Amino acid sequence: MNFLEQKIVEDGVIKEGNILKVDNFLNHQIDVDIIRQIAYELKRRFRGKQVNKILTIEASGIAIATVLADLYDVPVVFAKKSQTANSTDDKYMAQAYSFTHKRMNNVFVSRPYLTAADKVLIVDDFLADGQAANALIDLVHQAGGEVVGIGIAIEKGQQQGGRLLREAGYQLESIAILQSMDYATQTIVFKEQPTRLQSCNAKQQAR
Ligand code: 5GP
Repeated sequence: MNFLEQKIVEDGVIKEGNILKVDNFLNHQIDVDIIRQIAYELKRRFRGKQVNKILTIEASGIAIATVLADLYDVPVVFAKKSQTANSTDDKYMAQAYSFTHKRMNNVFVSRPYLTAADKVLIVDDFLADGQAANALIDLVHQAGGEVVGIGIAIEKGQQQGGRLLREAGYQLESIAILQSMDYATQTIVFKEQPTRLQSCNAKQQAR
C-alpha cells in the first residue's frame, strides 16, 4: 500500500451512502505531512508538464493545492461555491451537483484569476462522479485557458468520474483509487496502481 492507502485504512471511516469519511487528516483536521506527501507525489506524476496555475474548489482541496502551488511556485486559485446564481458579468460560472450535500452548487471564479494564458493543474481532495472536476474544467475553458491535468488525492473508482475524464483524454492522477468499500465490514479494496490489488479492513471507529 502507498502512504495514502495506508492512512485511509488506519483512519478512514466508511459511512452509509458510499461516503468515505477522512475528517481526521483531510476534511476537518489536516495532517500536514500527508498533504505534503500528496503534493510531492502529484508533482512527480505531472513532471515535464508546464503549469502556471493551480485551481481547486473550496474547501478541502485548498490545503493540497496550496502545498502543490508552493512546489511549482505558482498561484493557487480556489473556485467558490454559491447556491444563488448572481450576475456572471465579472465571473466565470459553472454548475456542480454536490454528492455529499445532495444539492446543486454554482461554482465561480472572478475573471481576473483565470486567463487565456493559463496552463492549469486542477486539484481536489476527492473525485466521485466528476461534477466538481468538470465544473473546474468548464471554468478554465470559459477563460480560454488549458487544462494540463487533474490531480486527486482519493478517487472513488466505483463511481464514473475517473473513467469519463480519462476517456475524455485528460491526464488524471489519483494517489489512492478505491475499487469498492463496504459499510457493514468496513472493508476497502483499492484499485491496483499499477499492478497490485490490496484489501484491508478499515478501523472500526465511532460512526
Ligand atoms: P464529484 O464532484 O466528483 O462527484 O465528487 C467529489 C466532491 O464531492 C469532492 O469535492 C468531495 O468534497 C465530495 N465527495 C464525494 N464523495 C466523497 C466521499 O466519499 N467522502 C468525502 N469526504 N467527500 C466526498
